[in-house]
Amino acid sequence: MSNLDLKPAPAVCGQQAATGPVKDLLTGRQVPLGESTVVRRLLPSLGRRMVGAWCFVDHYGPDDIADEPGMQVPPHPHMGLQTVSWLHEGSVLHRDSLGSLQTVRPRELGLMTSGRAISHSEESPREHARYLHGAQLWVALPDAHRHTAPAFEHHPELPVVTADGLTARLILGTLDGATSPGTTYTPLTGADLTLRAGAAHRLPVEEGFEYAVLAMSGSAEVDGVPVEPGSLLYLGCGRRDLPLRARTDATVLLLGGEPFTERLVMWWNFIGRTGDEIARARTDWEHGTRFGEVHGYAGTRLRAPELPATPLKVRGREG
Ligand code: MN
Repeated sequence: MSNLDLKPAPAVCGQQAATGPVKDLLTGRQVPLGESTVVRRLLPSLGRRMVGAWCFVDHYGPDDIADEPGMQVPPHPHMGLQTVSWLHEGSVLHRDSLGSLQTVRPRELGLMTSGRAISHSEESPREHARYLHGAQLWVALPDAHRHTAPAFEHHPELPVVTADGLTARLILGTLDGATSPGTTYTPLTGADLTLRAGAAHRLPVEEGFEYAVLAMSGSAEVDGVPVEPGSLLYLGCGRRDLPLRARTDATVLLLGGEPFTERLVMWWNFIGRTGDEIARARTDWEHGTRFGEVHGYAGTRLRAPELPATPLKVRGREG
């Protein structure tokens, strides 16, 4: 079978052969978050639920919150996932049921691993910067690790890869030989890319990963496609490099990973494998068990919404 050694393995995108790189622009939808913040939800969206293990992408701002409380998300539970708070402007005070109390500032990694159960709150500090701009990202935990103990990590210093006109800061996983210190459970990439006006670069990427780019600011082209802030360009698998061009100074987030082939039930703030698991998590939160308690938040915790009348669906990465 030595002849096979001469051929690269066929690119695989999930359980299907890759059909080649795609360019699918998602513009998201507006969703109110807490009382005073509106976010653009890019994932999950119609026909595209995941990019690697990234399963939830909200973009918010830049919002002028000079005379407003800003982000105020009361204590709520999570299960089966990791959350990443990623800011370009402003700061967020994180509290959780492990007793963590941490201010997360722009381009610092606040990574919460819910494992089997955690609860947390997120708020703009009382004294805050004028603008709030960032992304809230979730990573699904694979079945082998989803019952792990909850944890919170804060990494203010992250590795950086630079090229002419480009700075890439690793949020999670690996890019071009650099690796984030954040704990991961599946092969993935999350990177914050800053491009100087006029920069043109081919970023080396993993052929077996699928990728998407979330545009944060400025005007950039990703593989020839103009991306506006708040939009997500899904790129599929099968690339060895990704052409980037900046028309103005621009920032984008690169999200990618090995296609996540486990089927999930996602509802509210929980990820499970069956509807029964989700219903149990909801009951436990409503009864005040399992998810612990967040101390110090000035307000009451979030109540879980009612479960839908129809059974929750088990879904794959596309749909
Ligand atoms: Mn949360």
